[in-house]
Amino acid sequence: MHSSGHCHCGAVSFTVKGEPARMAQCHCNACRRTTGTGHNVQAFFPRDLVTITGETKSYESTADSGSTRRRHFCPTCGSRLFSDNSRNPGMIGIAVGSFDDSSWFSPQAIVYSAERPVWDFVDPDVEMK
Ligand SMILES: [Zn+2]
Ligand SMILES: [Zn+2]
Repeated sequence: MHSSGHCHCGAVSFTVKGEPARMAQCHCNACRRTTGTGHNVQAFFPRDLVTITGETKSYESTADSGSTRRRHFCPTCGSRLFSDNSRNPGMIGIAVGSFDDSSWFSPQAIVYSAERPVWDFVDPDVEMK
């Protein structure tokens, strides 16, 4: 797979060579608040497969696991783009909606499903965690 994407204003763009190691949909408090909707969807890639052009700003918080999660966003338009986790420094999560073509995305798991808002419908065939 060779794919590309960018933030809403275009100041930050990226290319990816290779397959995602993991794809997930998350309904945790942080994902709901940082996206402003019911969940976040991310595909995780080895960091060295991803080339980023442009500068992001970031915000760190502590995950329930105790690790530090950093979310990277465009400082101009605010689009949430990437995330990384101190527990797994070789990986980067990319917000799936920022890809030019995201038709390949299929979540392997829905995490924090207990925090899913009732109005946010999900695929009943995907494993809930
Ligand atoms: Zn932007
Ligand atoms: Zn989350």
